[in-house]
This record gives sequence, structure tokens and C-alpha cells, in this order.
Amino acid sequence: MSWFVRKDKGIQTPTELKREAPDGLWYQCPNCKKAMQTREHKLNAYTCIHCNYHEKVGSEAYFSILFDDNDFVELDATMISGDPLNFVDTKAYPDRIRATIAKTGLRDAVRTAYGPMNGEIVTMAVMDFSFIGGSMGSVVGEKIARAIDQAIKNRTPFLMISRSGGARMMEAGFSLMQMAKTSAKLALLSNEKLPYVSLLTDPTTGGVTASYAMLGDFNIAEPEALIGFAGPRVIRETIGKDLPKGFQSAEFVLEHGFLDFIVDRKDLKDRLSTLFSMLK
Ligand SMILES: [Zn+2]
Repeated sequence: MSWFVRKDKGIQTPTELKREAPDGLWYQCPNCKKAMQTREHKLNAYTCIHCNYHEKVGSEAYFSILFDDNDFVELDATMISGDPLNFVDTKAYPDRIRATIAKTGLRDAVRTAYGPMNGEIVTMAVMDFSFIGGSMGSVVGEKIARAIDQAIKNRTPFLMISRSGGARMMEAGFSLMQMAKTSAKLALLSNEKLPYVSLLTDPTTGGVTASYAMLGDFNIAEPEALIGFAGPRVIRETIGKDLPKGFQSAEFVLEHGFLDFIVDRKDLKDRLSTLFSMLK
């Protein structure tokens, strides 16, 4: 029975021909700790197949989930930050930017693009939390403003996907000006009667919540996303009251009327297409 008994003796397989399980083949859910194949996780729009935990993903993932066949034209892909305030904390701001670009492969905390989504062209801006906490500096504001210009020029809907710690402290006042700039651009989009949908993901806080993230014709969120302006400690100290449990979750915010609906990431593309065709 040659199936069970090795006939050939002294088989030598060179190291380069030996099959090995490649790294990153398995993904372990940080919520339920169960494992699944990375491929399976990706096909499930980066949500856990066991507990539906929505992994925090960035522009690359959302582009691949939303654009048909990952087909899109990126806008202002090379724009990088200046250093208007010569800001230094534990390191100089330009050094921090350079190090973050090298580490993440991103140029700043937002990427903007347009392309087909279920056959209809949509312009979108997607934030990357891995770039200095998804903080909103001048580049983020400028890229969003230009993407809205592009949406007006091509007469497409505009989608904003936020994931941010808020304003970028290294740009102080310049960062805050982005709130006014992006809000003004969204008003122009509204004058043109073009739809704007804002998707809030985990976490969306600070100046981002206080500007473009809450200005959508529809403001929607991913399940269990943390949504807020200031952190719980700051609010407690300001109003001198204890706060209800879970008051910054998407579910609580929805119940209190600040969101239109919560959407599972697996349904996101179809829900958005329906919404945009309704608003046309
Ligand atoms: Zn899980």
C-alpha cells in the first residue's frame, strides 16, 4: 500500500520549495477572541463572522468595499502638510509627519476619490485614524474642500467617512479654521441640490463631530461606534453631573435623535446606493 508506506527513500526538498503557512493568514477578533481566516474576514467587509465586531479600517478598505471593482480616481494624492506654527512637542511637527508617512504609507489623515458605486459615480472622502489619530489639520480640510468642489463639478453625491480624534493640535487655530471651511463648502454642495451622506465610524469626536461629520443630509453610523465631542471626564467636570452609561455610543446617539440610522458595514454599499438614488 504505497499510499501509506513511503516507497522513495531519502527525499530531499530544497528549503525554497517547502510550503509554509504565510504570515497573516489568520485574524483574531479583538472582541470575541475567536479566529477566522484573513480572507474570510476581508470578504465579510472586515467584520467578525462570529460576533459582528467592526474592525477599525481606513481608506484602502472602504475604497475596496464601496467602489465597483476597486475602480477610482484619487484626488490630491500627493498633498502633504506644512508647519505653519513651527510646532515642537516631543518632536518637531515636520519630523512627526515624515515618520508617520514612512510608517503608514499615507500622506495625511484623509484620502479623497471618485468612482462608480453600483454603477453611479460617487465622490468620497475617507479618514485614516492611523495617521496621527485621524486628526484634522489643514491638509484634511483642504482635501475635503476640494473633493466637494469635484462633486459639484461632476454633479455627483458626496460621501464622508469620518474616524477621528478631532482637530490636530500641532496646527492649533489653522486646524479649527478647517471646520468653517468644510462647512461652507458643504453649504455650496447643498445649494447645488447634491446629496451629502456622512458616515460616522469608531471613533468620531472633537472638531470633526462639530463640523462636517454632523452636517449630512443623512448622518449615519457603524454599530457601536464611539461618537462624541469631548471626552466623558471633560463633560463631567464642565456640567458637574454624572453621565448615563454608554452615552457616546452610536446606539445611544441614534435613540436621542442625532443619527438617522446605523448600518452594518456589509450592507453599507447597497444602503448608500438606495439613499443616493432616493435623494437624486
Ligand atoms: Zn468577534
